[in-house]
Order: sequence, then C-alpha cells, then structure tokens
Amino acid sequence: MTLIRNARVFRSTATDVRWDDGNITECGTGLRPISGEDDIDARGGWLLPGLHDHHIHLRALAARARSIPVGPAETPDADAFADRLRTAARDLPPDGWLRGVGYHESVAGELDRWSLDRMLETPAVRVQHRSGALWTLNSRACRLLELDDCPLPGVERDHTGRAVGRLWRMDAWLGERLNAAKPDPAELSAWAAALGVTGFTDATPDLRQDEVDALAEDVAQGRILQRVHCMTPPGIVRPESPRFTLGPTKFLLDDPTLPTLPELTDRFRVVHEAGKPVAVHCVTRIQLIVTIAALQDAGIRDGDRIEHGAIIPSESLEWLRTQGITVVTQPHFPIERAEQYARAVPAEDHPDLWRLGSLLAAGVPVAAGTDAPFGDADPWRVVRASTERTLFGTQERISAHEAVTLFLGHPDRPAVPRPIAPGHAADLTLLRVPPQELPTASTSPDLIAATIIAGQPVHVPG
Ligand SMILES: [Zn+2]
Repeated sequence: MTLIRNARVFRSTATDVRWDDGNITECGTGLRPISGEDDIDARGGWLLPGLHDHHIHLRALAARARSIPVGPAETPDADAFADRLRTAARDLPPDGWLRGVGYHESVAGELDRWSLDRMLETPAVRVQHRSGALWTLNSRACRLLELDDCPLPGVERDHTGRAVGRLWRMDAWLGERLNAAKPDPAELSAWAAALGVTGFTDATPDLRQDEVDALAEDVAQGRILQRVHCMTPPGIVRPESPRFTLGPTKFLLDDPTLPTLPELTDRFRVVHEAGKPVAVHCVTRIQLIVTIAALQDAGIRDGDRIEHGAIIPSESLEWLRTQGITVVTQPHFPIERAEQYARAVPAEDHPDLWRLGSLLAAGVPVAAGTDAPFGDADPWRVVRASTERTLFGTQERISAHEAVTLFLGHPDRPAVPRPIAPGHAADLTLLRVPPQELPTASTSPDLIAATIIAGQPVHVPG
C-alpha cells in the first residue's frame, strides 16, 4: 500500500490518496499512514491522473534515436543538408545505411535519387519526409532494394518506368527488406516516465499481428513501463499482456488516393461491425469533409475520432459537437512548423488551421497527442505551445490547465479526464508545484515529483 499526502488533487477536495494493488482505495483529508505503508509527502504539489499521450508511434520513435535529423531546424538549406549526410556517412561502413528523418522540401526542394546521388553516392541513403508518408532513396539504395523491378504501386516512376527513388507509404515493405533490427523502446519509456507519462496510444496504421505481439511483449517484459493502447485493424487478437489494450482502427487518408465516399463508408462499416471505433487521419479540408460524410452514412460508434484535424471549417464544429467525435490534435505543430505554415498555407485556410481554443469553445471533445516522432515527444512542450501560439493570431491559445487536461483522458474516451477516486487505476503524476504555478513552472523533467503506473512508482527523482 502507498499513501500520498498533502497534495492538491486534480478536480477533488481531497489532499491524500491511498492505493493498493494497482487501484486507488481511498481519497480524503488527514489520512494516517498504516504501518509498513510507503508514505509520500507531496508538499502541496498538484496530483494529476497520469499523462496519456493519445497519438504516438512508439516503434518509429525508438528507431529515430538512431537516425539523423534533417528537418528545417537542423539543416536550414541544401548545403547544410548535404554536409550533414556526408559527416554522418564517415561513421558508417560502406555497406551501411544512412537514415535521415524529418525532411521538408523547404530544406533542398523535392528530392529524388539523382539529387541525393549528387550529395552522396555511398553509402545507401534513405531520407524520410516529415509527413512520414514518403522515403527518398539514393541510387545505391535503389539498387540494393531492386526498386526498378518492384511492382508495388508505392514506387514512383518516371516516364521510362524507372524508379525515381521515391517510396510512398512503404514503411512495412522497407522494414522487411532491410530486416530492420528492432529498436529497444526501454530508453524512450524511461524518458517518458520521467516526464510523467503513464500511457500511450500507438496510432501506427495497419499493424500486423506479429508487430502487435512484439509491442505487447515489450510491455509484458517491462521494456515499456507505460500502458499501451494500440490502434489495430479488425481481426487482430489481443495478446495476453498486462497494461496492453486494443484501440480503434486507424485510417490514413491521402488526397491523391482518396477513397470514394461509398468506399470509405463501407470500410468504416466493416470496422464498426467488428466492434471497433475508427480513428481517421484528417489533415486537409477534403479529408475531413469526406470523413464526416462517410461517418454520417456509416453511423457513429462511441469512440470514433479524428486524428490531427489540421483543417476544420467552422461549419463542421456543430456536427462534431453533437456527434461527440473527439478531435485528437497536436497543439505544438503550429509552433514547430510555423515557418512552413506561414509560407505554404493559403490565406483562406488560416482561420481553420490547427484549431484549439475554438474547438473547446464550441464544445467539441478534444484531446492531445504528440505524434512523435513527427512532433516533439515531450507533452510539457505541447502544453507550453498551447499557451504560446501566435500563428495567424492568438485566438486559438488556451491556458496551461486546459492544455494539460488534454493529456488526462481515458485511452478509449480521450477527451474525458480520468478521476482520481477509489476504484480507478493508480496511474498518477505528481508535480512539484501547485496548480497555480504550472504556467510559470520550470522545464519539464524538473516539474515531476513522481510517476506512478498501476500503483508502481516508475519514476521518483532523488
Ligand atoms: Zn501519427
């Protein structure tokens, strides 16, 4: 048994919280420690339901630790980009593979095999676009993968039929061909625990049973300390593992390959009939409109959600509210990507871009995810970004309290904060500061006094 005393408890008048065997058993004021019980003095710090990152890609994030960041922040122009690749190549054997991540065409334009060859002919190079949708390979990498003979539609070709080195949405195929060693998630999990994160929703689309099993095994073996709620297609069997649950089915939409309305409606129906909600990636106006239309035709299921919601026209707000569709957004993107949005987003889209305050004001259910590795994985930076955004005006800003609440929802009901009350899981994040000091509090790791997952203290700094 463990007792936390003298806390400011989230949405409660209690100051003391006791738990046993993974569940909260008692909340009150003036609770006395029982002999043999662990006793934590919160010193007035804010006790929150543990932070849950509602949209993340765990395996890609772990793999990223071994990648070279080549986004606009790290490599502002073509020369810096080429330099970075060449420097990294010096540490690799000639038969090695260089992996760049976070690329955006503002760095050195649209890439293909020939533009990469001009920077580096060996070793094999692959560069991932920031969107996660596209890998570009140099000619050596194309040859090693026999791309010219690969019949898959994701291989982009020139008019002669030759592969240009651009692979669209072919992560699974690439992973198999490269026999990518499985990255160890332990470091990432410990890092997140130190930030107060007690759960993740993995939003990777189309996971296979063996990939789901491997993730569950990471949780069962303690390589991942947090709870993992895993988006999966229908038909995936839940592996026996504590702290591991299956979530909605992820749909990835791309404008050039957008399904027709009847096709999408059918696909939503199949998922609903299998007893699962849908989670639909919507980053453009047309993606949101077709998704809303298909949901209307297929019928809404509890737990259906929109991922990102990068563009939400004001006409859709009322519908999202009345249907109770949660928008799982990334409030930090307008800060991390401010320069590109300022340059590339047409003026008529500005009011609808990455809504936040206006979603909450309209009564739309909202939750947050970092979308790491495509965004910063630190939820406290997301909280700060929510309070600081200035892109196209400040009207979408929200308070730090509202922002942290976006991470406190249940995995299945992301916009509804989990109560700290008897009978609920003892997933808790204790801050060093009381609620009123959060907006001005220091940097992320210093903020956390303890992280508790299923009753176990996984992070208690000295
Ligand atoms: Zn994502």
